[in-house]
Amino acid sequence: MTDKRIQNEELFQKANEILEDRFRKAGVRETAQFICECTDVTCMRNVEVALETFTGVRERRDRYVIVNGHQDDAIERVVERRDSFIIVEKMGDTTDG
Ligand SMILES: [Zn+2]
Repeated sequence: MTDKRIQNEELFQKANEILEDRFRKAGVRETAQFICECTDVTCMRNVEVALETFTGVRERRDRYVIVNGHQDDAIERVVERRDSFIIVEKMGDTTDG
């Protein structure tokens, strides 16, 4: 099943990985501005995330950093709440919920 919302998030994931690489090369060591990886294609919000945190999130392909409140409860669940952003995890094929 191909879901346009998930495709959108994957696009933002790739963009953020490029940003992460640039931030590291630029010597950024603390927090940096990433793109909100929510499902809304028109969302242009930024999330301020520590590089360390972002790298940790990106180790799992099914996790995304987004603005608090931008989660799509139908396809993802919140795994961590921070001051300026939340981390969501894509739900797999579940029969319950
Ligand atoms: Zn968003």
